[in-house]
Amino acid sequence: MAKELRQIAIYGKGGIGKSTTTQNLTAGLAENGKNVMIVGCDPKADSTRLLLGGLAQKTVLDTLRETGEDIDLDLIVKEGYRGIKCVESGGPEPGVGCAGRGIITSIGLLERLGAYEDDLDYVFYDVLGDVVCGGFAMPIREGKAREIYIVGSGEMMALYAANNIAKGIQKYAKKGKVRLGGIICNSRNVDRETELLRAFAEELGTQLIHYVPRDNIVQHAEIRKKTVIDFASESAQADEYRDLAKKIEENKHFVIPKPMTQDRLEEILFEYGLMDAVEDYKI
Ligand code: ADP
Ligand code: MG
Repeated sequence: MAKELRQIAIYGKGGIGKSTTTQNLTAGLAENGKNVMIVGCDPKADSTRLLLGGLAQKTVLDTLRETGEDIDLDLIVKEGYRGIKCVESGGPEPGVGCAGRGIITSIGLLERLGAYEDDLDYVFYDVLGDVVCGGFAMPIREGKAREIYIVGSGEMMALYAANNIAKGIQKYAKKGKVRLGGIICNSRNVDRETELLRAFAEELGTQLIHYVPRDNIVQHAEIRKKTVIDFASESAQADEYRDLAKKIEENKHFVIPKPMTQDRLEEILFEYGLMDAVEDYKI
């Protein structure tokens, strides 16, 4: 009897920490014996670097360009830390063509070559995007990722992007089975960040599933091309990622998000952010 495969998409503004968080939390899942595949859906193609010990993975689009259609699965799926299967979709050259095309091509090819029939527990899609449109919505179309987490922080642009992503998810959720599982706060050390993110998540009808602290150990691990779990297994930050992995494992809270208006978002930011500053600076 086949295991139940959970397919999860991680969305969030560029640079917010999607790839770092995804690789660390999947390392946590792999420690617990879970069988995981990551499909990088960012033309940057750095979604699996920390698991593979460098940018060792040729993208699906490059492989197709060089080798043609007749390829083996192991050309596009490389095993990384604790057997995590790593795929990078890749993209067109910057400014040329549709950046979502790599995702569509990769998912189609993975399917055709039988990658999803493996003994997998999880597939994670690490998806770029301030908005969920065109190719970037591909992983959440019917039959693929049904579970979404948005990575955010207390910075306004991160929440602005998260709210836009929620709008995209809402559209697909109404037609299909995709649901929002929560907001992951990847801290930027903003004042009252936990409260702000909790309020933001509640307004969307979801939960703040975990607060990941900002810690320089992430950079120490990164320059060694490793996850924190691999590089500093005993560290507090490694335990944060293990906690996040556990919360995702046990999550039962899946909703159709209710995105807010720009005015409401600014109201929440004002309430949790600006008020303290006003007091601190005696404005
Ligand atoms: P994204 O995939 O969303 O574009 P990345 O995961 O590449 O973002 O993160 C951008 C940078 O932020 C990384 O190079 C990493 O050094 C840093 N970073 C991410 N999360 C943390 C954290 N919790 N603490 C410190 N630095 C972090
Ligand atoms: Mg990334």
